[in-house]
Parts: sequence; C-alpha cells; structure tokens
Amino acid sequence: MNLLSRHLALSLLIACLLTSALLAQTPAISLSVDATEAPRKIFHARMTIPSSAGTLTLYYPKWIPGEHGPTGPIQELTGLKFSANGQELKWRRDLLDAWTFHVEVPAGVSNVQAAFDFASPVDKEGQGIYTGGASATDKMTILNWNTVLLYPAGPTSDQLSYEATLRLPTGWKFGTPLPVASQGSGEIRFSPVSLTTLVDSPVIGGEFLRVVPLADNPITEMDIAADSAAALNPPQYVFDHYKSLVDQAQKLFGAHHYRDYHFLYSLSDHVAHFGLEHHESNDSRVMERTLIDEGERLREAGLLPHEYVHSWNGKYRRPADLATPDYQKPMQDDLLWVYEGMTSYLGDILSARSGVRTPEQFRDALALIAAELDHIPGRVWRNLQDTADGVPAMQGAPHQWESWRRDLDYYDEDVLNFLWADVIIRQQSKNAKSLDDFCKLFHGGQSGPPAVKTYTFDDVVNALNQVVPYNWRGFWMERLTTHAPRAPLTGLEASGWKLVYDETPSELWRATEAAHKRVDARYSIGLLLHDDGTIEDTVEGMAAPKAGIGPGMKVTGVNGRRFTEEVFHDALKASKSNSGLLELLVENTEYYKTFKIDYHEGEKFPHLVRDESKPDLLGEIIKPR
Ligand SMILES: [Zn+2]
Repeated sequence: MNLLSRHLALSLLIACLLTSALLAQTPAISLSVDATEAPRKIFHARMTIPSSAGTLTLYYPKWIPGEHGPTGPIQELTGLKFSANGQELKWRRDLLDAWTFHVEVPAGVSNVQAAFDFASPVDKEGQGIYTGGASATDKMTILNWNTVLLYPAGPTSDQLSYEATLRLPTGWKFGTPLPVASQGSGEIRFSPVSLTTLVDSPVIGGEFLRVVPLADNPITEMDIAADSAAALNPPQYVFDHYKSLVDQAQKLFGAHHYRDYHFLYSLSDHVAHFGLEHHESNDSRVMERTLIDEGERLREAGLLPHEYVHSWNGKYRRPADLATPDYQKPMQDDLLWVYEGMTSYLGDILSARSGVRTPEQFRDALALIAAELDHIPGRVWRNLQDTADGVPAMQGAPHQWESWRRDLDYYDEDVLNFLWADVIIRQQSKNAKSLDDFCKLFHGGQSGPPAVKTYTFDDVVNALNQVVPYNWRGFWMERLTTHAPRAPLTGLEASGWKLVYDETPSELWRATEAAHKRVDARYSIGLLLHDDGTIEDTVEGMAAPKAGIGPGMKVTGVNGRRFTEEVFHDALKASKSNSGLLELLVENTEYYKTFKIDYHEGEKFPHLVRDESKPDLLGEIIKPR
C-alpha cells in the first residue's frame, strides 16, 4: 500500500464514519413490501415512520432519477391509511402538489404507521411510463422502491435511512445490488441504506431467473428474469460479448464507481419496455425472446451498453441541475445532451468494441440515426437544446407529428455530435488523443463505491480543452442552437463514411419494421405507417404530405388495389420505372379520398458506405481496446 492509497483509505474511512453519523441522527424508517401478489399486479407496503405530534408531511417520490420528469406514478398509490398507537389518523393531500400528504399526528406519538398499495399498471400500453409502467407478470417482477414508499419532508434522501424487507411469491429467485442482511421464511431483509441507495437499487424476481457472471473483481453479473425458461438460453457467445462489454468499459473509463454491478434484465412481452440506469445496476426490459431471437437481439443491441455507460456518465458524473436533494425538487434537463447524448455515443461504440454488434451492424445502426435526423423538419423551429429543456412536459408526446414537433433528439443527434467531437480531437491532436482520453479524465479517477461528482456546461468545455485545445464552447453552442434544416453529418463524413440510400434494407431495418409492425417510407415519400395502413407520422415537405396526407389517416388502397405491406412496397419500387402517379386511397375520419403522388425514385433504405478519400477514423473508433 503506498502513501497515496493509505491517505485515500483514511479519507474513505472518515467519509464512511461521517455518513454513518448522519444516518444515526435520523432514526431508520422501516418498510416492508409484500410482493407475493405480484402476478395480480398489486404490491402491499407497510411503513413505520418516526414522528412527533403535529403535521407530518410525507412525499411520494415524484421526480425519479433517470426518468428526467415528474413521472412518479401517484395515480397507482391506493389503499392509503395512517395510524398511530392503534388509532387511525386523518390525512389530506396537498392542494398544490398531488404527491404530498399531510397527516395529523396527535400528542404522545413517536411512530406513525402507513399502509398502502401500489397497483401496478396491468398492461404495457397503460398510462405510466418507466418505473410507473407495467412491471409484473405471472412469472416475474421488477420492484422499484420509489413506487412503494413515502418519505418525510425535511431531510435529504442521503440523510434518511431505510430498513427494507421484501416477500416474493413462493419459489421465486431474485437479483439486486442492494446488500442483503438475511433471508428466511419467505422474507428478504436488506441492510439499512440511505433512501438514495434504496431508490437506486431495484430488485428483479421471478420463477425463471438466471444469474450470469460477467466479471469477478468487482463482481459484475446479469440477473435475468424471463416469462419462460427457454428465453434464458441463448448461445454462449451472447454472454461472452457482454463479458467483453464490461472489459471494454473498464478500459475506456480506467476506473469504476460501484461496489458490484448487476444488469437486471427483464425478458417479457408484458412489462413496459425501457432501460433505466442506476449506479450499481440497470433496469432494462425487452421482449421475452430478445436473447434467443437474432432480430430482436440486434434491435436491442444498444440497450445494455447504454445503460451500463450511465454508471459513469449520468450517475457518477451528473449535471448539477439533476443532482437534487430529494425526489420532490424539480430537475432541470438542459444538460441531457451530455447525460444522454454522450451515453448514447459511448454505448454505441462499446457495443462494437465488445462484439455485441459487428462493425457492420454498428454502422447500420448509425445509418438509421443519421437518416432519421436528416428528415426532421421540426429542426427549423426547435433547436436541439430545446429538445432537452422541454423533457419534463414532453417525453410522453405522441408519435403523430413527431418529425414536426421533434422527439427526444438529444439522444441520437448527440451520437452524431460526439462522433464529430471525437473526430476533431483526433484531427487536432494528429491522432494522439481521442474522446477516450476525455472519458478517462472526466469519468475515471479512483475506483470506489457510488459517488456523485456534479458538472456544468463549463466543466465539459474545460475538460475537452484539457484533452485538446479547440473552440469547444463555440462548437457546442452551434450544435445546440442551430436551426439548420439538415442533420449534423460533418463528423460522420470526416470519419471516412457517407450516408447513402439504396433499395436493399439492412438486417436492422427489417428487424425494426417487423418489431414495430410498421412500414417505413419516410425517406421516399415521407410516410411512416402501421402495417394496417394507419399513418403514424409524415415528414413535412416530402411527397405524400405535400399531396395532402397527414398523421392518423389510413391508407386503404394503392394504385387501385387493397393496401397490404407488400402491395405498398411493390408500388414504391415500381415508381422508378413508372411514369404515372402513385395513387393512394386514404380513409380520413370516415371519408375516402384518392391522393395522387408525383414520385419516381423507388424505395430508399439508409446505409453507410466508405469514402476512400478519407482515413477510416470510424473503424479506429470501434476497434476493441
Ligand atoms: Zn440513457
């Protein structure tokens, strides 16, 4: 042990003692969750909350870390009762904030008992999003503690201590990063932790649960729950690629900020599908057959790398505006272009460095991003910065009119922007430096347990300048505020690759169309349709919307024949050699109309092709380290 590490160990010890002292100041809140009725989609919570006489104000978590908005599923909190010394207590919801409850506590009371249920949405198309979405099936569940607890106003989430227990259906196994103190007679008792750690540590449980070790030091594993045993048995190389992902991420960042790490992976067609990051885990949910079906696996190949990167970028390094003291204070999303955008870029390059995607599959994914962003007419009124700023109110927006409204473009557009930044660093440093150096500087440091190091826009600019001096402030201001009508493809092109369209869809394109049950003709005539002909979105300015077609209408006939996917594809293909107009019979609010479209360019599917006049920097970027 050298002097530096001894000094560090001492500071860690002092930090631990201080934290325990702080925790000791607030008596622990006990929380027992009965999830034995998870298949019925109802969770029962019982809490004992230290209190004294007066008004006890309690919050149901509202602003959930990683969800970037006030998404705490308050409408699912039911059966709420408070009591003390055997007497029921009066409560009232706050008139200005529906997540806040005021309980009248009489004299002589030291503890208030709370009892309530979390009625989890019964289907994945339901109202709730993220942890408020469908989370249980007959065979498995994911428990996010924020859905089953209240916390008192006043202390920060770091200062509150919780002692949690959990009961699962008989025979179910579980996985979680939360330290287990003991288990027996159907109950799991967790070690006391801060509210911050509890909310950051979901539990996955199920009848079919497989633990796949990925690394030993620190322990890194996949805890996979599925709706069937068959879904848990992909070829071994699938897991080997994830082992390599862990290795490549350590090499990229040079340090880790977790005690151990758990990929909590749900394989079910009946839970909400998303990925949510935590310091020591991620809650990622996909279709049941994702691991064993090649198309689904390809479609979801970016998810786990993205969520894993968040342990460094998002949890350890976090925008100051998002590092709130509890779940009641609003979050500000202006730096999501770093939090999510850089994570998307790093996740994507790690997916290729690890073999989760082949280089070609990586480029196909990048081509999809580039093409989509190059067909966003909404960029003329709404800049990239606003797609982040608007998140708290806009992430539940419908897909109709999405290309005119703009979606959460700070994810994908910042893949192109961080690729551009990576290329600039390489060019300015004559290939001596890359964004990897930024990652080591910004996200690396000393390995250890979860910690939060906040940053501002200036910190990002300064760190980039430390890697290589450049007008980084000007670069990002331009990227974030421009109203240029086309996607930022300069970095991609400088990396030695060009976006082109041809008549052959990539493997990823086919898998995406099949999974979403849709027909994507956005880059030919500007239509995105469901496979029944219903139009999801139009790309303003392109042939079909120009002819008068809009979202919500339904294509029922193509050139005089009833609409099917095949008939539609064939007609688009034939448009190249056909001098006549493409005729679409469209139903709109019970009325039928024929629209004639002057289009003769065939089908258009995006790809990247090599530009031999430039060095292949993209190839360098995705080489395993
Ligand atoms: Zn993310």
